[in-house]
Amino acid sequence: MNIDTAGIEAIVKRVMTSIDAANGVAPATQDAKGKDGIFDDMEDAIAAAQAAWNDYKMRPLSLRYKIIDEIRKTFTKKETVETIVNMAVEETGMGNVEDKLTKAYLCAEKTPGMEDLQANCWTGDEGLTLLELSPFGVIGAICPSTNPNETIVNNSISMLAAGNAIVFAPHPGALQTSLYCVRLVNQAIAAAGGPANLVVSTEHPTMESANVMMHHPDVRLLCATGGPGVVHAVLSSGKKAIGAGPGNPPALVDETADIEKAAKDIIDGCTFDNNLPCIAEKEVVVVDQVADYLIFNMKKNGAFEIKDRKVLDDLAAMVAPDGRVSRDYVGKSAKYIAKAAGIDVPEDTRVLIGELPADHPLVQIELMMPILGIVRVDNVDEGIDLACELEHGNRHTATMHSKNVDALSKMSKKIASTIFVKNGPSYAGLGAGGEGYPTFTIAGPTGEGLTSAKTFARRRRCVLCDAFNIK
Ligand code: NAD
Repeated sequence: MNIDTAGIEAIVKRVMTSIDAANGVAPATQDAKGKDGIFDDMEDAIAAAQAAWNDYKMRPLSLRYKIIDEIRKTFTKKETVETIVNMAVEETGMGNVEDKLTKAYLCAEKTPGMEDLQANCWTGDEGLTLLELSPFGVIGAICPSTNPNETIVNNSISMLAAGNAIVFAPHPGALQTSLYCVRLVNQAIAAAGGPANLVVSTEHPTMESANVMMHHPDVRLLCATGGPGVVHAVLSSGKKAIGAGPGNPPALVDETADIEKAAKDIIDGCTFDNNLPCIAEKEVVVVDQVADYLIFNMKKNGAFEIKDRKVLDDLAAMVAPDGRVSRDYVGKSAKYIAKAAGIDVPEDTRVLIGELPADHPLVQIELMMPILGIVRVDNVDEGIDLACELEHGNRHTATMHSKNVDALSKMSKKIASTIFVKNGPSYAGLGAGGEGYPTFTIAGPTGEGLTSAKTFARRRRCVLCDAFNIK
């Protein structure tokens, strides 16, 4: 075997990094290879993260508080946030700056930090037993293209608060935005006095490098935020994995709803960031008695109704040829999509709507673009059954507009979605106009729900025998 000088240097570097990692030493300097947590090679990145974690786990909790504070400060600085969201829109070609600003502030300001880690204890004649939320170690986190910066900021706050190090595997389509955020997180950690490379990623992520991460013995927990492929991949890895997968959230409207408000809420939720969020309304099911009035009010809120079935079929063939969503239209504006389809729409059009049968692709497929198929049903019970069918068992998100408590309760039980918003836009489920904290990793399939620091912690029991019962 021939090895050139560069090859030898690489091997020496890797061995030295492994020795440092084994000895619990974080690299003292950040050379070009590991600058601000970005590495050429996945093995190097994991070794550096492991070394950083060996250091981090021995540090006081006050460091974690400082790190979370610095991350919040960094990602709420106006110029920084504007740079990031503009970069995300430009790089991915998806979403819009205004809504991405809302999402960016929401996750930087409101993702729970250290306060999320509450211990539990039992005391009695036999002493004191403590249940603590302890770190896993190095977490491998796979991120989507649809919320690249939000996922990195949200996951960083949650996972670092819980005491972990992180290896991020960003989506290649949002690479520069993702790496920019990883660098900023590392700089925030450094400003707080934390170890270098606590959060790492690679310059050129590939399926192969994601595979290395998924099967590396030092990566103790996987967290995948994305479509069905990546959730399946982490759940097949043989490791503990958290899967935050796809949705197809229905919005169900019955005859008892405040129809004017329901129309506005649905349009606001479904057009938010051009329908990119996995929680956003993707189709409407409405009771016949109020369907015309709902559509009338949707139109008052910027919806453009397409009545010609052929035009709707052609639109479906354009945005989801052969039943697969075309990336060319994901996260684009309604006007952009209409123009591409040769449909003339007014300047203020926010979403394209059309009445369709339930089996139409514009109803069945998670399109992630401002197109809403609307299906009429005879009554609310039929509506609940259909909404459940259209959600495809993803257990992700559903919304319902109704004043009928029994119907709301029935829908909630039947659909079993992780988020169920009643009488509001879907984003109320993320704490924007609804109570509760935000997250950008909603773990439906694996059941952790709206993830936060405690999701990324191991439950450990610490027992002190015969003492410290002061009851
Ligand atoms: P995607 O599935 O195309 O990519 C997600 C990530 O997984 C990327 O980093 C990609 O490189 C990687 N990946 C994909 N297949 C893989 C495999 N087999 N092995 C290893 N890595 C793999 O997702 P996207 O298009 O960027 O995001 C949109 C999807 O994500 C939608 O379905 C949306 O509903 C879902 N999503 C879910 C949540 C949630 O919290 N549940 C949040 C955001 C997005």
